[in-house]
Amino acid sequence: MNLAILGATGSIGKSTLDVVARHPGRYRLFALTANGSADALQALCALHHPKYAVLSSMPENKDLRASFARHGTELLFGAKALEEVASDSRCDVVMAAIVGAAGLGSTFAAVRAGKRVLLANKEALVMAGPLLVRAAESAGARLLPVDSEHNAVFQCLSDPRAVRRILLTASGGPFRSLALEALEAVTPAQACAHPNWVMGRKISVDSATMMNKGLEVIEARWLFDVAPQSIEVVIHPQSIVHSLVEYADGSMIAQLSNPDMRVPIAHALGYPERIASGARPLDLPGIRELSFEKPDERRFPCLPLAYAALERGGTAPALLNAANEVAVDAFLAGRLGFTGIARVIADTLHAVSATEAESLEAVMAADATARRAASTQILATAA
Ligand code: NAD
Ligand code: MG
Repeated sequence: MNLAILGATGSIGKSTLDVVARHPGRYRLFALTANGSADALQALCALHHPKYAVLSSMPENKDLRASFARHGTELLFGAKALEEVASDSRCDVVMAAIVGAAGLGSTFAAVRAGKRVLLANKEALVMAGPLLVRAAESAGARLLPVDSEHNAVFQCLSDPRAVRRILLTASGGPFRSLALEALEAVTPAQACAHPNWVMGRKISVDSATMMNKGLEVIEARWLFDVAPQSIEVVIHPQSIVHSLVEYADGSMIAQLSNPDMRVPIAHALGYPERIASGARPLDLPGIRELSFEKPDERRFPCLPLAYAALERGGTAPALLNAANEVAVDAFLAGRLGFTGIARVIADTLHAVSATEAESLEAVMAADATARRAASTQILATAA
């Protein structure tokens, strides 16, 4: 099977390569891509010898093509090349693991080409859920969820028509029990120190604000075609139960594992076969406690904002996602306080009206408008 990993140098990308390396001969690497980290990408090419490597832009260094060629890899540049490798007829499976709206075009390209798409890039579904699902249906593409909660739900779905509720678990992040008044002053380093998972910086901040769970509610709405009222969030600090499905008969089915993204990645890579992931098996007696609690909306105002955007529909989730990306960037760069993230998103959704999301162009236009509005809000806050 020929595999392309979009976002190969990231947390999900590297975990995917780890699982792939455990199954010699099963996958051939067709392409590995990264944003700007040429050295990191080249190091991966030296190990895995993909046919193509793609960087977002051409760096100054003129010798780069020759040094990639030494590993049997042709180096390409730019968004168009990214979409080309994602939709190339020689490629069977695409791991969509670019972070944020930057992954939308390539995820769509893979879907439109009818690929088996292992979906980590949840932002693409948040921005353009109905369009992406329709495109997958008409092209015969298969979307396999990699997000741990959605992969868990997928594993627990036996009779989709009898689903009463989907319960997405959330760890509560690093600030679950911090005094509310202290949230204002938390630093990017504290926000990125997740208690159970090691992830990229953007999703780590999203976990701390719980916007990550908000995005996941929207992701679940489109992946599983369930009404928003049937999707609930429950805090589960141990991150062992990755999500649950409740059926009409009162049964609840859950998927459990240690918090290790190689589990859902291996599930999606091997599906419908089960293959080794390298994750440590669960030691149930060693866990002792699995606890659950309701999320507090005063602590996590991003969660109701996401539900409201989903309810509003059209381009509202794309506006929410764009405002969040801009606010998280500003927080990570020290230009916005932690509690400012939710404020900027709320103000952006207030300032920009949602419209119909009839095309990818309409979604991209909404994304651009929300980015400008959010940047203006942040400048106004700083002034
Ligand atoms: P990361 O920041 O570690 O890696 C992001 C990857 O995307 C890198 O390879 C980077 O080079 C590439 N990239 C970034 N901007 C780009 C751009 N403009 N153009 C092209 N490539 C670009 O992120 P991650 O934590 O691996 O997350 C990737 C995706 O998976 C996100 O959508 C995230 O929400 C989702 N996800 C991650 C985890 C996790 O445990 N890390 C869990 C569930 C879902
Ligand atoms: Mg998740």
